[in-house]
Amino acid sequence: MSVVVLGSANLDVVIALQRIPSPGETVLTDTISRGCGGKGANQAVAVARSGAPTTFLGAVGNDDAGRMLLDGLAGAGADVSAVRRTDGSSGTAYVMVDAQGENAIVVIGGANAGYTDLTEAEADIIRRADVLLMQFEVPIETVTAAASIARAAGVQVMLNAAPYAELPADLLENLDLLIVNEHEAALSAGTQGTPEEVATVILGSVPGVLITLGAAGSLLATRGTEPVRINAPHVTAVDTTGAGDTFSGAYAAATVEGLPAVERLRFASAAAALAVQERGAVDAIPDRARIDEALRHYYPG
Ligand code: AMP
Repeated sequence: MSVVVLGSANLDVVIALQRIPSPGETVLTDTISRGCGGKGANQAVAVARSGAPTTFLGAVGNDDAGRMLLDGLAGAGADVSAVRRTDGSSGTAYVMVDAQGENAIVVIGGANAGYTDLTEAEADIIRRADVLLMQFEVPIETVTAAASIARAAGVQVMLNAAPYAELPADLLENLDLLIVNEHEAALSAGTQGTPEEVATVILGSVPGVLITLGAAGSLLATRGTEPVRINAPHVTAVDTTGAGDTFSGAYAAATVEGLPAVERLRFASAAAALAVQERGAVDAIPDRARIDEALRHYYPG
């Protein structure tokens, strides 16, 4: 039982500053770090570290960043043999973080922006998956085409609609599960309300919706069944970057493992709770042994 994650891979250049410069201003710092990122790569790492066989589909540039991204993904256990190496630069995110933890981010799409026109070999990889997990950092046409290929082959299609974009009808009709945070859920539903109310509206257009609620937990609603809501573990968050990606990846892994709904949510919540207690995105994504141990601690019984 395997998960294919189709999406972006970015070199994250994180610049720590006392404060983020205003237009026309120059601010000095010597604190800079580089790491693997991009929603697709983060989620692929989360699936792989959760213990499910994982294939990543996407594109990196023919540069040092591309090699680093492939090494990072493969090091986490994801199959990267079908990742495109394109001429030009890898996607890059310049992240400025100030002393209060506020950030400002500029993303250069690079190779991700050119990830279009899926090949027959890529389509075959999608058809052989049990779950296809995607986000919106590669062109929406590619996401729509992949969802249609997956649906025709009976593959379960999960979309984390982040960064938020309006969902075209020909994408919606091929989704099994929409994964959104509270803000994205309200935008998808076109209305405000309790998570249960918003989920009910979204179920009018997709068979399942999973709403993440930050420190308040998560809610899973599927047509024809009672919604399931669980609390997040009480932890001290130091950096919530990548919490949603960790949650989505761990949830997809728990799904191919065949866990029941409550167990899937607990597994994903334990993984995300571990992630928010450490700095960084990919570096903070926990492996299976740590998730299992945290599960016993956070959700005993
Ligand atoms: P969000 O994208 O903020 O909704 O976060 C995704 C998931 O990460 C949530 O559903 C929680 O399971 C987890 N999470 C985020 N923030 C926290 C927090 N402060 N404490 C515990 N878990 C969290």
